[in-house]
Amino acid sequence: AAEEGFDAEEVEGAIEEAGHGPLPVLAVIGRPNVGKSTLVNRIIGRREAVVEDRPGVTRDRVTYEAEWSGRRFKLVDTGGWEQDVLGIDASVAAQAEYAIEAADAVVFVVDATVGATDTDEAVVRLLRKAGKPVVLCANKVDGPSGEADATALWALGLGEPHPVSALHGRGTGDMLDAVLEALPEAPAQTFGTAIGGPRRIALIGRPNVGKSSLLNKVANEDRVVVNELAGTTRDPVDELIELGGITWKFVDTAGIRKRVHLQQGADYYASLRTAAAVEKAEVAVILIDSSESISVQDQRIVTMAVEAGRAIVVAYNKWDTLDEERRYYLEREIETELAQVAWAPRVNVSATTGRHMEKLVPAIETALAGWETRVPTGRLNAFLGEIVAAHPHPVRGGKQPRILFGTQAGTKPPRFVFFASGFIEAGYRRFLERRLREEFGFEGTPIHVSVRVRE
Ligand code: GDP
Ligand code: GDP
Repeated sequence: AAEEGFDAEEVEGAIEEAGHGPLPVLAVIGRPNVGKSTLVNRIIGRREAVVEDRPGVTRDRVTYEAEWSGRRFKLVDTGGWEQDVLGIDASVAAQAEYAIEAADAVVFVVDATVGATDTDEAVVRLLRKAGKPVVLCANKVDGPSGEADATALWALGLGEPHPVSALHGRGTGDMLDAVLEALPEAPAQTFGTAIGGPRRIALIGRPNVGKSSLLNKVANEDRVVVNELAGTTRDPVDELIELGGITWKFVDTAGIRKRVHLQQGADYYASLRTAAAVEKAEVAVILIDSSESISVQDQRIVTMAVEAGRAIVVAYNKWDTLDEERRYYLEREIETELAQVAWAPRVNVSATTGRHMEKLVPAIETALAGWETRVPTGRLNAFLGEIVAAHPHPVRGGKQPRILFGTQAGTKPPRFVFFASGFIEAGYRRFLERRLREEFGFEGTPIHVSVRVRE
């Protein structure tokens, strides 16, 4: 309907765009120095990634949103990986395992000027086993004379090598076209095949907050299946655990249990692991060590889960260790440092004593319910009408922009698109978001609000 100056097509287009579900995930993998980060920079078209980083400087950002030919996807950059004490083969393999596991398709970058190395061959074996679509990027082909080097990479048995110069941009467009062909429209493993199956939980948090202790506590009480899903690793990756009479799938438990002691790159390794788990999960249970000050690293993990659009529960672990004083400061820290998830259900637990374990499931269910909430259009517009009448947008330049109508374009997490008669300021958007939460709940879920302005 031509509503208040928006034509039907425009409205439909906006709803479709705002309502996109979870994005498919593309992982960029390969040995150090083959040009992964350079390629990621080129694809996301920003100078935000990592090439400038010096060795030893850890990066926490591993996923980026990207777009090519009008299609959006998530990019997992493994370029920050550093060779660790296990040696180059083991570290590249471990990195590749996590990235492949989380991905819907993979770009495997090989330095064409060097040719395929033994390490590359090892990654090829992992890729074969995983069975995910692969696009082979023959990088550092800066000019026509390098094409022969690219051709030689047919020998890897991964199909056509795409000659690319990540540095200069040569060939990246053709390669990305191949990527889009390989990439499913939506992330299959999380939301396709999993529909109707057990809900997927990622247990995340910085090292030593008690993830493996908590997992052991809940799993030992009532384990259903171990080794449920072999994935690409030798260890079980996902585990089915019965809690509160319901079977849940804890994703990436191998990552939690694995006791690999890494020196260089350990933080990055943890970030990649967290990103992989979050991508696969519907709900993230974020563990915080309440005996220690809430850190920047805790905040980054929270941001990762929020940006991924997952349902969120925050569990404050090691509650058995708290004294009065620490408890006082913890509450202050939560208010100031974790304000971005003030809407998340909270549980105060102890993996050691088992305190409040029974509160975990209700919190998870609350968060998932918020995540799946759909507000009927009629109710939403009645609410918008009241808000706009009672709290109009401030007048700017003699005009008063107004929210005309809105609709919920999608769920998991809830996504809204509002149609307005003029530019809506950030402060007013935040106000609307706050009121949406007050009215409709959305406990435990991020929400997205986009605004379309009438031309
Ligand atoms: P990563 O470790 O795989 O992420 O590799 P980087 O992206 O950090 O690149 C390693 C080095 O290779 C850097 O010095 C880059 O400038 C260089 N490099 C990356 N892509 C290309 C390319 O297409 N051509 C050339 N000549 N050099 C490149
Ligand atoms: P992860 O690195 O997050 O998997 O953490 P771990 O499960 O390995 O735990 C790190 C340390 O914290 C271990 O020494 C645990 O025994 C200890 N820990 C874990 N949970 C609790 C808890 O609830 N209370 C206390 N006091 N210690 C805990």
